[in-house]
Amino acid sequence: MIADTMAALDNLALSHRVPSTRDGIVIKVGLKVKHLHTEKEGTVISIKDFWGNANDVGGFCIGVCFDGNNSEELCFDEFLFVDTFPVDYDRSSFCEVCDIHFDESFVEWSHSPFNETSKGRKLCRPTYSICKRCDEMV
Ligand SMILES: [Zn+2]
Repeated sequence: MIADTMAALDNLALSHRVPSTRDGIVIKVGLKVKHLHTEKEGTVISIKDFWGNANDVGGFCIGVCFDGNNSEELCFDEFLFVDTFPVDYDRSSFCEVCDIHFDESFVEWSHSPFNETSKGRKLCRPTYSICKRCDEMV
Protein backbone atom coordinates (compact mmCIF):
# COMPACT_ATOMS: atom_id res chain seq x y z
CA MET A 1 0.00 0.00 0.00
CA ILE A 2 1.38 3.39 -0.85
CA ALA A 3 2.26 5.80 1.93
CA ASP A 4 -0.25 8.46 0.81
CA THR A 5 -3.12 6.02 1.10
CA MET A 6 -2.01 4.90 4.54
CA ALA A 7 -1.71 8.49 5.73
CA ALA A 8 -5.18 9.24 4.39
CA LEU A 9 -6.59 6.21 6.20
CA ASP A 10 -4.82 7.24 9.42
CA ASN A 11 -6.34 10.71 9.17
CA LEU A 12 -9.75 9.20 8.57
CA ALA A 13 -9.31 6.92 11.58
CA LEU A 14 -8.25 9.87 13.75
CA SER A 15 -11.31 11.87 12.77
CA HIS A 16 -13.68 9.00 13.62
CA ARG A 17 -12.22 7.89 16.94
CA VAL A 18 -14.20 8.68 20.06
CA PRO A 19 -13.64 8.49 23.80
CA SER A 20 -15.74 5.54 24.91
CA THR A 21 -16.68 3.74 28.07
CA ARG A 22 -15.59 0.11 28.23
CA ASP A 23 -19.14 -0.90 27.50
CA GLY A 24 -19.37 1.06 24.29
CA ILE A 25 -20.96 4.43 25.01
CA VAL A 26 -19.47 7.63 23.58
CA ILE A 27 -18.25 9.77 26.49
CA LYS A 28 -19.68 13.30 26.53
CA VAL A 29 -19.73 16.03 29.13
CA GLY A 30 -22.64 15.29 31.45
CA LEU A 31 -22.56 11.51 31.02
CA LYS A 32 -22.86 9.48 34.23
CA VAL A 33 -20.05 6.96 34.57
CA LYS A 34 -18.77 4.40 37.07
CA HIS A 35 -15.09 3.68 37.68
CA LEU A 36 -14.17 0.08 36.85
CA HIS A 37 -12.17 -0.61 40.01
CA THR A 38 -13.45 1.74 42.70
CA GLU A 39 -17.06 1.54 41.42
CA LYS A 40 -17.43 5.21 42.34
CA GLU A 41 -20.05 6.95 40.24
CA GLY A 42 -19.50 10.38 38.80
CA THR A 43 -20.32 12.81 36.03
CA VAL A 44 -18.01 13.68 33.15
CA ILE A 45 -17.15 17.39 33.37
CA SER A 46 -14.40 17.69 30.74
CA ILE A 47 -12.75 15.82 27.90
CA LYS A 48 -9.22 16.68 26.83
CA ASP A 49 -8.37 16.56 23.15
CA PHE A 50 -6.94 13.31 21.87
CA TRP A 51 -3.14 13.50 22.04
CA GLY A 52 -1.92 10.33 20.38
CA ASN A 53 -1.21 9.15 16.88
CA ALA A 54 -3.62 7.26 14.67
CA ASN A 55 -2.70 3.86 16.12
CA ASP A 56 -2.65 4.69 19.83
CA VAL A 57 -5.23 2.76 21.79
CA GLY A 58 -5.56 5.27 24.62
CA GLY A 59 -5.29 9.01 24.48
CA PHE A 60 -8.37 10.69 25.91
CA CYS A 61 -8.19 12.08 29.42
CA ILE A 62 -11.51 12.93 31.03
CA GLY A 63 -12.38 14.95 34.10
CA VAL A 64 -14.92 13.24 36.33
CA CYS A 65 -16.68 14.83 39.26
CA PHE A 66 -17.39 12.44 42.13
CA ASP A 67 -19.71 13.21 45.06
CA GLY A 68 -20.60 16.63 43.74
CA ASN A 69 -17.25 18.26 44.53
CA ASN A 70 -14.21 15.98 44.15
CA SER A 71 -13.02 15.85 40.58
CA GLU A 72 -10.21 13.84 39.06
CA GLU A 73 -8.65 13.51 35.63
CA LEU A 74 -8.46 9.89 34.51
CA CYS A 75 -8.08 7.79 31.40
CA PHE A 76 -11.37 7.40 29.55
CA ASP A 77 -11.24 3.63 29.34
CA GLU A 78 -11.40 3.14 33.11
CA PHE A 79 -15.13 3.78 33.10
CA LEU A 80 -18.42 2.06 32.53
CA PHE A 81 -21.65 3.71 31.56
CA VAL A 82 -24.25 4.31 34.27
CA ASP A 83 -27.71 4.08 32.83
CA THR A 84 -29.95 6.93 33.92
CA PHE A 85 -33.28 8.19 32.67
CA PRO A 86 -33.82 10.40 30.73
CA VAL A 87 -30.64 9.63 28.90
CA ASP A 88 -29.02 10.91 25.74
CA TYR A 89 -26.11 8.91 24.44
CA ASP A 90 -24.50 7.42 21.32
CA ARG A 91 -23.01 3.99 20.98
CA SER A 92 -19.40 3.63 19.98
CA SER A 93 -18.04 0.76 17.90
CA PHE A 94 -14.92 -1.17 18.74
CA CYS A 95 -12.50 -2.46 16.09
CA GLU A 96 -11.22 -5.88 17.10
CA VAL A 97 -8.16 -5.50 14.88
CA CYS A 98 -6.69 -2.20 16.12
CA ASP A 99 -8.49 -2.15 19.53
CA ILE A 100 -9.76 1.41 19.08
CA HIS A 101 -13.24 2.81 19.72
CA PHE A 102 -14.77 4.68 16.79
CA ASP A 103 -18.12 6.19 16.00
CA GLU A 104 -20.51 3.64 14.55
CA SER A 105 -20.16 4.80 10.95
CA PHE A 106 -16.50 3.75 10.82
CA VAL A 107 -16.84 0.13 11.92
CA GLU A 108 -18.35 -2.77 10.03
CA TRP A 109 -19.88 -5.69 11.88
CA SER A 110 -19.82 -9.07 10.26
CA HIS A 111 -22.80 -11.29 10.93
CA SER A 112 -23.00 -15.00 10.52
CA PRO A 113 -26.46 -16.45 9.84
CA PHE A 114 -25.19 -19.90 10.69
CA ASN A 115 -24.47 -19.61 14.40
CA GLU A 116 -26.53 -22.04 16.41
CA THR A 117 -27.26 -21.67 20.07
CA SER A 118 -26.86 -24.59 22.45
CA LYS A 119 -30.61 -25.16 22.08
CA GLY A 120 -30.31 -25.51 18.31
CA ARG A 121 -31.85 -22.17 17.34
CA LYS A 122 -30.19 -20.39 14.44
CA LEU A 123 -29.37 -16.79 15.22
CA CYS A 124 -27.78 -14.02 13.23
CA ARG A 125 -24.98 -12.96 15.53
CA PRO A 126 -22.17 -10.49 15.07
CA THR A 127 -18.96 -12.45 14.69
CA TYR A 128 -16.38 -9.71 14.47
CA SER A 129 -15.95 -5.99 13.97
CA ILE A 130 -13.38 -4.21 11.85
CA CYS A 131 -12.86 -0.52 11.18
CA LYS A 132 -12.61 0.86 7.65
CA ARG A 133 -8.89 1.51 7.99
CA CYS A 134 -8.05 -2.06 9.07
CA ASP A 135 -10.42 -3.42 6.44
CA GLU A 136 -8.44 -1.60 3.72
CA MET A 137 -5.13 -2.90 5.02
CA VAL A 138 -5.93 -6.62 5.08
ZN1 LIG B 1 -9.20 -1.05 13.17
